[in-house]
Amino acid sequence: MIQSVRGTKDILPDDIHLWNFVEGVFKKISSSYGYSELRTPIFEKTEVFVRSIGEETDIVNKEMYSFLDRSNESITLRPEGTAPLVRAVIQNSLIQQSNLLRLWYYGPFFRYERPQKGRQRQFHQYGAECIGSEFPESDAEIISLACDILKGIGIKNFKVLINSLGNNDSRDKYREELIAYLSNHLSELSEDSRRRFEKNPLRVLDSKDEKDIEITNSAPSILDFLDKESIEHFEGVKKILTKLDIDFTIHPKLVRGLDYYNHTVFEFQSSELGAQDSIGGGGRYNQLFTEFGAKQTPAVGFAFGVERLIIILEKIIEKDKLVQKPDIFIVSGLNPDDDYYISLVKKLRNMNLKVITDLNRRSFKAQMKESNRVGAKFALLLGDDEKNSNNITLKRLEDGFQQTIAFDSIENFNFDNQ
Ligand code: AMP
Repeated sequence: MIQSVRGTKDILPDDIHLWNFVEGVFKKISSSYGYSELRTPIFEKTEVFVRSIGEETDIVNKEMYSFLDRSNESITLRPEGTAPLVRAVIQNSLIQQSNLLRLWYYGPFFRYERPQKGRQRQFHQYGAECIGSEFPESDAEIISLACDILKGIGIKNFKVLINSLGNNDSRDKYREELIAYLSNHLSELSEDSRRRFEKNPLRVLDSKDEKDIEITNSAPSILDFLDKESIEHFEGVKKILTKLDIDFTIHPKLVRGLDYYNHTVFEFQSSELGAQDSIGGGGRYNQLFTEFGAKQTPAVGFAFGVERLIIILEKIIEKDKLVQKPDIFIVSGLNPDDDYYISLVKKLRNMNLKVITDLNRRSFKAQMKESNRVGAKFALLLGDDEKNSNNITLKRLEDGFQQTIAFDSIENFNFDNQ
């Protein structure tokens, strides 16, 4: 048997209800904040990601699905959503048409990572980006949108960690200071962190290695290097979040993996997830547009990993509650091409009812059993008697209550309220 590719998963009918539910929340809450959906292709020219995410990041270095297509162009399956979205905004001149864009996206993403619970090679992200405002209220709006989505899904126990990387000046000064500190501890750092130190020293702060954590706990804090402008921005964000009753924790070691962030960065965590405790995160990226050769445009955004939202949702909801059970299972003794039977099914479906019929020509008894198995609300019993007298027999499966209804008055029968 040919198996699926390592790190990919089929989403089976039993689980799709969870997905449909969270997708519904994404749409509803994004729309209530005035965000519109933008869909980009799932592959882009490789340079879209190399330029934006940064050459020295894990994603670009070792996780991208890149290949040469038949005309020798380097193509990459998108590992994240912000860079393609920014590419699309620039290419379609969306920012010229409006000086503020509120956008969201949802779909599959691809990273060549070691698969484990909550980490796949094809996974899904929902993300939102607020483009065109440099002010702290846009950072707060994005964080608030993210929190409302988590709450809309029913997730209550999550942590919001925030930090500021400051503007470029502050970040550069801090970087130098951090390099000086880490150089004195190089031999004690993990191999991974020593490599990061060479290429992207801020990312050493991200390490999960215990010894690294001990060392970076005493490292200088970026918050001591913020200049006036950076402090004002960060204070502005915190003030609004507090007024919105968003419970956040300042985490000075939060830097996040991508190169393009400045000022506010944030992350959402859940203890329900175990080792992979990050549900998602994001930050401000005022320089990214210039990396694409466009005019400098301030922006802030975030992304959630949807597989992780589903893992949490499974723990807090009874899956059955999301399943729409059939309204009617037709238990028929008539021929499958009988006029009366066919027009009845058509009529019921036109009433927007969920109607299931037997396609295996099973006995009346077997169909009755099946109507119970699928959890239908009613079994609709249909035989020669019903056909000859132009009516139907409805059996409420919960208690066996049976009633006869004239074919012509079916439209007036309220199936919901029985
Ligand atoms: P990032 O784009 O790296 O900031 O990731 C944002 C979120 O996407 C993470 O917090 C995870 O929830 C999710 N995520 C990232 N990579 C994966 C993956 N390989 N498998 C599943 N979820 C992922």
